[in-house]
Order: sequence, then structure tokens, then C-alpha cells
Amino acid sequence: MKYTSTRGNMAAKSFTEILLGGLADDGGLAVPDHYPKLSKTDLAVMRGMNYRELAFEVISRFATDIPAADLKAIITKTYTAKVFGSDVITPVKTLEPGLHILGLSNGPTLAFKDVAMQLLGNLFEYVLAKDHAELNILGGTSGDTGSAAEYAMRGKRGIRVFMLSPLGKMSPFQTAQMYSLQDPNIFNIAVTAPFDACQDMVKAVSNDLAFKEKYQIGTVNSINWARVTAQTIYYFQTYFALTKNNDEQVSFAVPSGNFGNVCAGHIARQMGLPIRKLIVATNENDVLDEFFKTGIYRPRAETLHTSSPSMDITKASNFERFVYDLVGRDPQILKGLWQQLKKDGYFDLSKTPYFAKVQEFGLASGSSNHADRIATIRRVHQRYGVVIDPHTADGLKAGLEHREAGIPLVCLETALPAKFEETIREALGQDPQRPAGYENIENLPQRFDTLPPDVAQLKAFIAARVPS
Ligand SMILES: *Cc1c(COP(=O)(O)O)cnc(C)c1O
Repeated sequence: MKYTSTRGNMAAKSFTEILLGGLADDGGLAVPDHYPKLSKTDLAVMRGMNYRELAFEVISRFATDIPAADLKAIITKTYTAKVFGSDVITPVKTLEPGLHILGLSNGPTLAFKDVAMQLLGNLFEYVLAKDHAELNILGGTSGDTGSAAEYAMRGKRGIRVFMLSPLGKMSPFQTAQMYSLQDPNIFNIAVTAPFDACQDMVKAVSNDLAFKEKYQIGTVNSINWARVTAQTIYYFQTYFALTKNNDEQVSFAVPSGNFGNVCAGHIARQMGLPIRKLIVATNENDVLDEFFKTGIYRPRAETLHTSSPSMDITKASNFERFVYDLVGRDPQILKGLWQQLKKDGYFDLSKTPYFAKVQEFGLASGSSNHADRIATIRRVHQRYGVVIDPHTADGLKAGLEHREAGIPLVCLETALPAKFEETIREALGQDPQRPAGYENIENLPQRFDTLPPDVAQLKAFIAARVPS
């Protein structure tokens, strides 16, 4: 399997060659040169597989330059009951016949990003060891991504993490999750400025190519192809869990931000998994909902801060991979659209044959506001005695708008309610339960450094901790 860029100007690369990279040199995203097609026989065999076996079956088709035995070992080490709470890894909970919640949030940081990030940590360590290389991951976080990255990379040989976060701006739970890590390869940097300033600092350092090269600076953002690949597995597992044969169909509702999770569902469908609909759910930042309803993609200048904060995204970075498929995988057409985006601030596919493909690909959408979220959390609690988090509530609301008789609907649970106590308290008048082991996390000793929003000081901080 070879990888090219959505914009057409990258020499073909292998899976491990794109593993550590971010954007392609031409500004596009790495995509496989084709989607492996699963035959009826393949699907019949996969039906009997557990999570690890499914992961190997799918990922080995994409990571063709990792020897099978090595990939198996990496997957076996990653997807354990110890890390994910049960041997099922991503269990399905049934609310009522035909309506289900897919539990993706039983990893160490209680959000779905762990599922892919834990694999990424082990893949990075493997590839770096082979090349006798080191990697210093630099990132900015307002909560979820940073903690998932730290828990995936802690204790890994050849890897250090420098994670910037806005001092005092994360919830006490999120802060404790990150700052309580004592691993010597994890550096929490609390910046005395808002999150945007953290992001600007990361960008400034990444744009200094000489510094970046000298100190082997990398990132783990959501455009990472391996993360998207790892997220396809639970679509397969859930499909097999909820059907009796491979002629049946299942629909999925996906709380979306950077379009990584739902992109994985799209890929599973392209590979031949009988998914009926993929329902993209947004919050008040509804750029994607607008596109799927009108054909117009118009990222906004302003991001609204909402009570489903991990979906507060106005420019969905993985969306380019999906549009690439919509336009028939033609990099010239894709490039033209992104040029127009840059020039005019939007593109409009409504009057093109490409927009018809949206339906053919099974995509639908919906959006929620704060009141919807509260109402959904309340209703699910009253009706089923289950507490869901605000992001999952956004997913469920959009999903129910597209529910069809006779087709099981699965809403992806992207975080546990324990991470968003304030909203749960508003909806239910009570605190969500915390999983065992997290009861007193705020009282653990914390380890972090504080820096002003100053790029020179950040560079000095990194330089002092990386042997050159
Ligand atoms: C990251 C995240 C999302 C959005 O996922 P994408 O893959 O970026 O679309 C949704 N919910 C939660 C809780 C998240 O952390």
C-alpha cells in the first residue's frame, strides 16, 4: 500500500514513512492510493474475530511495510483489558431495541481519542527504535487531545512530550489528569495565556525549520493517518456485534469536530462494511452540518465556546480526505477547491455531480445547541437510567433525526460524563459517577512548569531538555 497527497504533489510513501509526519509537503493530507476491498468471504471470517484480531485484519492492509509478527505484537500490547477496562475494548450498550451507545471512552483519559492514540504510542516507539531515532512531540491542548497524547506516550523510549496548556483554564479534572503524570519524558507547560496563545507558540516553533530539525520536533494531531486507521476497527466490531449476517445494515451517529472519527467510518464503508448511514453531529459550530445540508463549505472565522468543547472546531482538518473521495480522488479538482477556499472563504458543491455522492456515501448530518444537549442528557437518563456526556448527547440527537425502522442506530460515545461534571449537574442536578481509580485525582501531586507566552523561552525550555 502506498500513500499519496490529496493535492497530488507527494512522491508515493509507505505507511511508516507517513507515520510520524503531519501535512504533506504540498499542504495536502496523506491518503492511501486505494481502499482495500473486503470480499464476502473476508467479512464472513471477520465476524468471528475479537478486537485484536479485527485490528490486525484491517490495519495490516494499510501498514503493509510492518512485518505481520511485529504488527501483531504491537496490537496485542495495545488493546488490553488493563488499558481499556474490558477485553471487548469498545463495548456496546443497548438503550432499547435498535438503539445503542458504543463505549469508546474506557481508556486512561476517558475519551475516545485513547483508542487510536494508544496504538500510535506503540507504533511510534517501534518505528523510532528501528531507526535509532528520537521524537519530541510538541502540542497545545485545551484538554482532551493533550491528555490522550501524554497517556499514550508516557514512558515510551525515544519520545518526549512537550504539551502546552492554558494555565488555570482547563477543568480541575482535566488539569489533574495531565499534571499528575510523573513520567520523566512528559513535560507539562502551563502557559500564562489563553489556549490560542499556546497554539500560536506551537506554530511558531514548528515554522522554525532549523530548530524543528535540530530537535526532532513532531506532532500528534488529528490528521495523522494511523489514528484514522485505528478508528475504523470499532465500526467493524460493532457491526458484527449487532447483526446476524452480512446482508444487514447498521447506521452510526458520530459527534464530530475534526472529522477524524466519522472519516474512519467512511473508510470502513468504502472497504465494504455494510454501513447504511454515517450521521455527522455538530454543536453550535455547525460548519459540517451546513455542508451536508447545502453543499456549501464555509469555515468560520470565529469558534464558539460550547458545552461540548471537544467539538468546538470550525475548520475540520480531516474533511479534506472525504472531499477527495467525493471528487473522485482527483487531486487537481481537490486543489482547485482548496484554492477557492483560500481566495473566497468557501466552496459550493451543490450544483455539481460531486454533491450527489454525499448520499451515495451514506452521509447525513444534524446539529445541537446547549438546550438540546441538556434535554437529551435528561431524557436518556429518565428513559434508560443511563448518563451520557454532552458530546454523546449531540451525537444521539442528530442520530435520532435520521433513525430508520429496522436499521440499528449506534451513537458513538466519545467521552465519559465524569469529564464534564458541570453540564451533567445542570442537566440532572447530580454529579456523574467517576470510574474507579479517578475519585481523588485532583488531590494527586502535580508536576508542571509555567511559562509566559514567549516563543524564545519555549525554545530554550525544549533545548535544555533534549540532548543535541
Ligand atoms: C475529539 C473529540 C470529538 C471529535 O472527534 P473528531 O475525530 O475530531 O471529529 C468528539 N468528542 C470528543 C469528546 C472528543 O474528544
